[in-house]
Amino acid sequence: ATDVVVFGETMAALRAHDPIRLGGTMGLSVAGAESNVAIGLARLGHRVSWTGLVGDDETGQLVLRTLRAEGVDVTNARVDGRGPTGLILFERRVGDLTRVIYHRAGSAASFLEPSDVLPALTPPPRTLHVTGITPALGPGPAAAVRAAVGAAAEAGAPVCLDVNHRARLWDRGTAAEVLRPLAASLSVVVASDDELELVAPASATTERDRVTALLDLGVGEVVVKRGADGASAHTAEQSVDVPARRVRVTDLVGAGDAFVAGYLSGRLDGLDLAGRLDRAVTTGAFAVASPGDWEGLPTRAELALLDTLPGSTLR
Ligand code: ATP
Repeated sequence: ATDVVVFGETMAALRAHDPIRLGGTMGLSVAGAESNVAIGLARLGHRVSWTGLVGDDETGQLVLRTLRAEGVDVTNARVDGRGPTGLILFERRVGDLTRVIYHRAGSAASFLEPSDVLPALTPPPRTLHVTGITPALGPGPAAAVRAAVGAAAEAGAPVCLDVNHRARLWDRGTAAEVLRPLAASLSVVVASDDELELVAPASATTERDRVTALLDLGVGEVVVKRGADGASAHTAEQSVDVPARRVRVTDLVGAGDAFVAGYLSGRLDGLDLAGRLDRAVTTGAFAVASPGDWEGLPTRAELALLDTLPGSTLR
């Protein structure tokens, strides 16, 4: 069976080294939160499938070809001519700050429907991973998330949600209205400390209360990311905190997706909570210490590589 099924929008990504308005050279790649997770998992040796719609265009072929080349199963993905493949521009501004510009409204991916994603869940995978980005893309994608989460939960497949709030796509109130009803069907919730309130019941007002409320709803694992301060994971039985791994920051974009790939990989391998978090902060550190969203993610053999970097090993 497939280890992890993901779906969502993957865009063509153009990365500029200078301010875009000045022109110059850009590098072409692909980017999407769910496909970043898929590539991270595939590099660690897991069987992963990505489903989504790309436009009937060359950038759509780039998306599919890249995922195929990374060993991600795209047999459920499809070309849809109703819109182009989305485009994301990354512009390096000052220091670590990367500015993101979207050209994704009306993209092929925004036409996603439940019928596009449900076939990937038969037979049920070992995990379904969704993000809070997909329901922000439009009513069809939102329905696809609801249908997939419902179908996976009914089939007994664990569902992981990364809240991944994108303020450019929707506001916090709308996100909370859509994400909170999913909570009771989730096995794993991953959120930044400021995103937990978008999925936890509104009655909870502190981080501790939000974690407890989610666990009370039946969520098995609540994982909270804190950037350079590391992460915590909570189950009904225990809470574990881990610091981030100390690395020189090259490109912060993609840290959260890499973290999820590491966490789910550890979970599939049957590691305990501390082991899952340890792999998550390791893959997160690979993402921040290398350029690109997913290009620098480790293979299984490379997981120990950070231990050999002088000065960046020990937490
Ligand atoms: P993004 O949306 O940019 O992908 P995020 O906000 O979802 O990121 P973060 O909390 O910033 O996620 O980062 C996820 C994980 O990546 C952190 O828990 C940490 O383990 C690792 N990480 C992030 N920033 C750093 C850093 N500066 N140094 C080392 N590790 C980091």
